[in-house]
Amino acid sequence: MRQESIILNLHGVGTPDRQLEPGEARYWLSVEQFRDIVSIAASMRDKVACQFTIDDSNMSDATIAGPHLAEMGFSTQIFVLTDRIGQRGSLDRSALFDLMAMGHTIGSHGHAHRDWKRLREDQLVEEIHAPQQRLQDLTGQCVTAAGLPFGGYNRRVLAEARRAGFERIYSSDGGTARERAWPIARTSLRRDMSPGEMRALFDPEGIFQSLKRRIKGEIKKRL
Ligand SMILES: [Zn+2]
Repeated sequence: MRQESIILNLHGVGTPDRQLEPGEARYWLSVEQFRDIVSIAASMRDKVACQFTIDDSNMSDATIAGPHLAEMGFSTQIFVLTDRIGQRGSLDRSALFDLMAMGHTIGSHGHAHRDWKRLREDQLVEEIHAPQQRLQDLTGQCVTAAGLPFGGYNRRVLAEARRAGFERIYSSDGGTARERAWPIARTSLRRDMSPGEMRALFDPEGIFQSLKRRIKGEIKKRL
């Protein structure tokens, strides 16, 4: 049987050191919750291939999440908002290099944390291309992946991301992940998830639910 594959998406871990956006607090995990989910992922390795990504470039990526994930053998995509680089509570240039030294990869989450599917054409081009270039200049690495802000996409977003030369883009549609999907589905972890709910993400019985989500994703692509 084919091994299931899932991608779990993190945001902040621990206590934020900046003003949160409305509705954002529910995506911040406690340190204990974070360590629990990483332990579950490590213990399930032979049954479910799990990868982690982290959105929003909070400083906790470099101080808490990145070091622990590396220690547990998970290389992670870190999706950075270029507008926040060096701002209080967010990753700065040296933290980006620390994360790369730990074996993680830097990707784009856009510039100003705006939902790409709601932007005008010129704004969309700006949010997709400029941050990618800035991150490449800053890190000296090719930036080939993007985490869609708020998981939002439509046909225009998918086409513009292709034009920018991204090899992978990641939604927040939930369910199982397929390597060549465009976008690749991720599941966002939330503070209100119980340990049981987190464990259930690794349950092969969840495939049916994931299929339903995939159909929903196909509809979104046509909007
Ligand atoms: Zn975000």
